[in-house]
This record gives sequence, C-alpha cells and structure tokens, in this order.
Amino acid sequence: MTEKNVSENFITQIIDADLASGKHTHVHTRFPPEPNGFLHVGHVKSICLNFGIAEDYQGLCNLRFDDTNPDKESVEYAQAIQSDIKWLGFKWHDKVRYSSDYFDKLYNYAIELIEKGLAYVDEQSPEEIRENRGNFTTPGINSPYRDRPVAESLDLFARMKAGEFDDGSMVLRAKIDMQSGNINMRDPILYRIKRAHHIRTGDKWCIYSMYDFTHCISDALEGITHSICTLEFEDHRPLYDWVLDNISLECHPQQIEFNRLNQSFTMMSKRKLNELVEKGKVDGWDDPRMPTVSGMRRRGYMPESIRHYAQRSTVTKKPSTVPMSLLEDAVRQDLNKVAPRIMGVIKPLKVVIENYPEGQSEMITAKNHPMDESFGTRELPFGRELYIEADDYKENANRKFFRFTEGREVRLRYAYYLTCQRAIKDEDGNVIELICTYDPETKGGSSPDGRKVKGTIHWVSAEFADDIEVRLYDRLFNKPAPKGLGDLNTNSLEIIENAKIEPNIVSNSEGVRYQFERMGYFYRDTTHENNKPVFNRIVTLRDSWAKLEQQN
Ligand code: ATP
Ligand code: MG
Repeated sequence: MTEKNVSENFITQIIDADLASGKHTHVHTRFPPEPNGFLHVGHVKSICLNFGIAEDYQGLCNLRFDDTNPDKESVEYAQAIQSDIKWLGFKWHDKVRYSSDYFDKLYNYAIELIEKGLAYVDEQSPEEIRENRGNFTTPGINSPYRDRPVAESLDLFARMKAGEFDDGSMVLRAKIDMQSGNINMRDPILYRIKRAHHIRTGDKWCIYSMYDFTHCISDALEGITHSICTLEFEDHRPLYDWVLDNISLECHPQQIEFNRLNQSFTMMSKRKLNELVEKGKVDGWDDPRMPTVSGMRRRGYMPESIRHYAQRSTVTKKPSTVPMSLLEDAVRQDLNKVAPRIMGVIKPLKVVIENYPEGQSEMITAKNHPMDESFGTRELPFGRELYIEADDYKENANRKFFRFTEGREVRLRYAYYLTCQRAIKDEDGNVIELICTYDPETKGGSSPDGRKVKGTIHWVSAEFADDIEVRLYDRLFNKPAPKGLGDLNTNSLEIIENAKIEPNIVSNSEGVRYQFERMGYFYRDTTHENNKPVFNRIVTLRDSWAKLEQQN
C-alpha cells in the first residue's frame, strides 16, 4: 500500500464521516489561487492538502484561478502558478478553471437575489458605506437605499453592467442584517463598478463580483464537496452558506478552515513579497532567497523536500509558526541521500608541492558517496599544483586547528599527506600561496607507518579544475519574526566569481544536485549565467542559525 499524502487530521475525519454517512460518495476539492503573485511555501501546505486529499480518496482536485481583481492579476502569474504546481508533482482535474468562466452565471444569480428581495443597489459613497457598517462594538446603520423597490435595483444593476455609472458610484449589496455580530453579514457588497482590463474577459465587464459571492458559487458550480481554506475565512463561512442557501443551486459544498503555514525568518504574503521585488531587494520572484516555489526550485530544493515539510506542518485550528530550520533540515536530509559528492573550492588558495615532479600528474580514485556504494567512484587528476580552501590555512593556528599552518601535516581527501612548509605573501602581507611537501607513501590517505593526521581537507588540481561562479545564500531576514524591509539580512547573498570545481562536473551538471565536500549542497543555475557556470548553494551541511531559532 502506498503512503498517504495527508496524515489523519480533523479534515480527513470530516471527510471519512461524510463518506460513511453517505452524504458524499466521492471527494472533490479545489485549489483557488489569485493570480496576483507567485506561490510561496505557505501555499504548498494548501496544495498538499487539497491535491493530496483528492489523491488519497481517489477523488478530484480542480485548479481554479480566483480572478476577480483585474488590477492586480496577470497571465504571467497564472502561468507561473501552473508550472509550480506541476513541478511540485500534482495534477489538477480536467482543464484549468477561472472564476471568470462564471461571470455570466454569477450575474444571473445576483439578479435572482435582487428578485427575491435579498440584494439591492446602494448609492452611498464608499466612505458612507464604511462608516455605516459600524464596528465590533457598534451595530451598523441601514442604508437609505436598502428598501428601494426590487424593480429599481434590477434596473440600476443592469445599467451598472452596461457602463452607465462611474466607478465607485454604486454597489450591489446583499440584504442580510446590519445589526449582525458578524461584520461580514452586515449587507456585504456583492458587486462593484470597476473599469479595468481583465486578463481573460478583456473589457467586457465593468462590474466585478466580490470574493465572498464568487467563491462559494464557483465551488458549487464545480461540484466541490469540501472547500478547504485558511482560518481567516472562518468568519466568512456564514456568508458562504447564506449565498448558497438563497440561490437556486443544488450543490452546497462545506467550507472547512485550517491553520495557515507561517515560517520563522520569513515574510509570506504576496503583497510583501511583491514589495521586495518592486524595490529591487531581490532578483525577482524566483530569487533563490525567496520563500516562493520558483525561488526554492532555482535554489535547488527538491520538490519532495518541500512537500514533506509542508505535510509535516499539522492541520489544525490553531495558528502556529514553523522554524525555517525544519525546511532546511528536510532539504538536507533528502539531498544527503541523492547528491553525488564532489570537490569544489570556493575561496581558492594555491598550493605548490615542491617535492612533486614538475610536468607529472596521476589519477586518484574518489568515492561518489560515502554511504552508498552504488554511486561508484571517479578518477581525479592530481599534480604539483593544487587549490585548497583559503580558510584551511591559518598563520597563527592554535593546537586545535587541525588544518594547514606552517609545519603541520594534513590529509588531502583521497590523495596524500601534505605538510605545509611555508606561506608566500604579497606586498600587502596577504597569503597567496603555500609551499608544501607530500609523502609519496601515503597515497589513498593513510600512512604505512601508522602515522595519524587529524585534519582532512578538499582540493582540486590547479591544471585541470574548471572555473565557476558560486552564489552563497543566507536567510533573507535576520529576525525570527520579520516586520518589514528593515529586518532584511544585508549579508544574504555572497557572490564568488573565481571558485574552482573538479573537472568533468560542469558539463554534466544541469539538473544534478551535488554535495561539494565540506562546503554544502550546490545546484547549477543555468537560467542566470553570464560567462561562467553558476552554482547556487542550496544549503550548508549544518545549521548555522540554531541559536536564534531557539529564541523564536
Ligand atoms: P497571500 O496573503 O500570501 O497573498 P492569499 O491567501 O491571498 O495569500 P491566495 O492566492 O488567495 O493567496 O491563496 C490560495 C489558497 O492558498 C487559499 O486557499 C489560501 O487559503 C491558501 N494559502 C495562502 N497562504 C497560505 C499559508 N500561509 N498557509 C496555508 N495556506 C495558504
Ligand atoms: Mg488573496
């Protein structure tokens, strides 16, 4: 039996009961993004839940764009959302749906409500409407237009549609209860006049329905059984039900709300992410530091890691924040299993082995995965000149530093023991080269005399290594609960243009995630290269934020 997408939670319990009681014979969910930005890791929780439940119950899940705010929506966003869902590994039922598919039907249901005396055209100004809605402590005040004759509202609504009135001059409102304790029920607006070009219907409409009216009807028209959404819609549920109870549509889906995924060190809402893009704080929506699906993809996260992480965030009615380190751990754990090990030097320091014959070279056998023999081995060229990591040398090292300092012997991974004889400096006193000697008896990394060395470092052949650019990413924000752009981590991107990688990797690197031994996991970013191959660091080998995360 294959494992379930969604582990048991209060929503699956509702579904189980509905199937057992015969209320439903099948399950049909939907994922309803607004095409006003890219999907982020929070959306992944909703995607895993909606598509995952449909899969688990052999049901269906629709993808429906909630496109009722023409100002903010674009075709590019809609396309990006579709490719993100596919990349995450989910398939929607049948064709992509749009709320705009139902504009004609929605209009007719609005007329039905007017005819039943349950909706009216209100000519108060937007300020008056806001003012008269009251607040948590004050009840609302009825509009002077509330009891106008049905025929008058029908006429005005038709003329609103025909474009006879200015934007904002009137709205269609449901007639429910201005005294209701639930502000959403105080004669909510159903339609407003807005002259805006729509991504699908062009200039056909100058009135657009509001979310609360559109969403429930779209769900019902599609035969959705369980309409799963986040907790902020809980107070809208009475309106969801009111609309469906008062129009002639048989289907009445059940709206169920769950806790959204919040993540430490992350700002999630599309509005805030858009601000980062607009202000040039990041390199687009798919910047590898963004919590967007496309950013995580470009960075090199595997789709299953993101899914597993989102699925681990429990589905309840209680808001909660997940530490970002859980996502990074999920990414690391998966990469550890699938990433071949190679050697790349990020900040190169030249090493010359003075007792290694000039003009000579040899091959060294290296394992591609320390725990998994099936990855096999490869041959690495070794010679007189190498590059090592600059940080693996220290001029004034104490006894606990097991890497290079003058006179200290260190193991080169898979190769030989090397002793650092002296450092060569430039005029400013910077170390630019190490002169070393090697012990030819230690090939493979051990000494026949049983002599032990404590440090093992990575290296590449200076002659055969390829030049690459490396981009090291850190968290975009440096506060566990960022409030705004003031909490941006100014050191979240470091670009190193002269990094080195062992030969025969670059040409095979597209789509492969590698571990650069000791330095982390890396992924080729072919979409953002100029002249050199670019490798993004997906994640370091260890968590460097553990302390701050605990304060969260
Ligand atoms: P944002 O505030 O980030 O723009 P949204 O809710 O406005 O999010 P939509 O495109 O309307 O974005 O969302 C589509 C679906 O994804 C909705 O059902 C919404 O409830 C869900 N969703 C959005 N954010 C989260 C989140 N952080 N965790 C879980 N589900 C989410
Ligand atoms: Mg929204």
